[in-house]
Amino acid sequence: MSSLSDQAARLHGVREGAAPGGRVRVGVLALQGDVREHVEALSAVGAEAVPVRRASELASVSGLIIPGGESTAIAHLLRVFGLMEPLRSAIAGGLPVLGTCAGMILLADTIADPAVVRGAEQESVGGLDVTVRRNAFGRQVDSFESDLTLAAWGEALPEASTVRAVFIRAPRIEAVGEGVSVLASVDAHPVAVAQGNLVATAFHPESAGETALHAWLVAAAAAHAAA
Ligand code: GLN
Repeated sequence: MSSLSDQAARLHGVREGAAPGGRVRVGVLALQGDVREHVEALSAVGAEAVPVRRASELASVSGLIIPGGESTAIAHLLRVFGLMEPLRSAIAGGLPVLGTCAGMILLADTIADPAVVRGAEQESVGGLDVTVRRNAFGRQVDSFESDLTLAAWGEALPEASTVRAVFIRAPRIEAVGEGVSVLASVDAHPVAVAQGNLVATAFHPESAGETALHAWLVAAAAAHAAA
């Protein structure tokens, strides 16, 4: 098992190899939620981190983070800002995306307990073949931190690593499709998963200053930009 900083350094090397002469541009969806911490984490692993609020900004990035926050609010604002369909197309086209907490809910194909907002069930962006349950670990007061081992995942995360994970009104995954790799679980429920160009965590890696998953995203974004 390597330390996160070793792993981040190695992935950073992959990124530089894939995108000589410039930092790869990675977006943070900035409609609602903890945008600033993700911008800082991306910058720390060498990306040019930019907030994304419009389709033109989405089109300019090679990777994206959907942050934690409130999934109903983010889904609503994706519609208001005309980003829902462009984001779905970008994901279908291979854009690497990291979704954390509310971001994991938004990436899930199925929400087990969608909120009903103005008479309609909350939407997800989808792309990740999982079913999530919102607020599955309890309320804000039940928030907790834990050291989790993230399993290796092919060439993208070549070695297992330990991450400090912060769970805040966190969702968890109740069912995964065949193509989904489970990277970590709590009480036998997956809390970190990966599928193709998508990685999602029920926890907030950025709150504890973890950057391994940001480094994965930057490496994947560089490869996507070069493809
Ligand atoms: N429970 C929130 C939701 O449903 C997610 C919480 C978080 O992102 N910290 O969107």
